[in-house]
Amino acid sequence: MFTVLEFHNISSRGICWTNMPAKRFADVLDLLQAKTHIVAPTDLERYLNSQDDSERPHVMLSFDDGYEEIYTTAYPMMRERGLAGMVSTVAGYVGKRNLWDIMGGGLDHLGWHQLEELLAAGWSICSHTMTHPDLKRCTDDRLAWELEQSKQILEKRLGLEIPAVAYPFGRFNSRVLRAAQKTGYRIGFTVGAEVWKGVRGPLTTIRVPVYQIDSDPLIRAKVAPDGFHKRLDAFKNRFFNRLSLLTSFADRHRFKGIPQQF
Ligand SMILES: [Zn+2]
Repeated sequence: MFTVLEFHNISSRGICWTNMPAKRFADVLDLLQAKTHIVAPTDLERYLNSQDDSERPHVMLSFDDGYEEIYTTAYPMMRERGLAGMVSTVAGYVGKRNLWDIMGGGLDHLGWHQLEELLAAGWSICSHTMTHPDLKRCTDDRLAWELEQSKQILEKRLGLEIPAVAYPFGRFNSRVLRAAQKTGYRIGFTVGAEVWKGVRGPLTTIRVPVYQIDSDPLIRAKVAPDGFHKRLDAFKNRFFNRLSLLTSFADRHRFKGIPQQF
């Protein structure tokens, strides 16, 4: 069983449910190290393409949106334990203040030097588009720009291939998948809330969110094969995912054309 877990910011600032205070994050890492095998993000494709039937669950840690506290807080904690993770990077906002998230407004995103240092330490980076829109609502031009421009900027600036994209809010449809494939992405990350679409493959790889309110037994259920608690968790995650879409509704006016400021 291989599960990609999705954290957001590791921080005590703000009250948003997607923040996880450092102390709770340490407890979650303790739990995961005791009960699972945490794989290096650079091994992602190997795990996605192989059938993992070992008894101990395998997990990969990912961090959505790429906030600066991933570098200042999560990175030292994980380095101490010999762990690395993957950051979904909103390419148009590297080193800039968050203006696109009504819940996370005011936070700074990771800068280029921080991303380079994470990469040197064995972390990986995937595209999280240019401006974090709901891709399903974008025009064809905007969709292509969000996918292509973010891949190009990250590859050029960081000097490596970016094979994966995380769809903002996990939202995709067949048009988004076709565009991602055409852009050259081999992996696409969604969230459990979107699994009902029944599409399976590397371009619809599910990330399972971990929230600060999640109990230890619930976190164990997230990485276990199917079961009652896992389904309960998926239901709750779907609710939170829909709440996060408020950001997308607030952003509606920015979907129409390609923004000039990037
Ligand atoms: Zn995001």
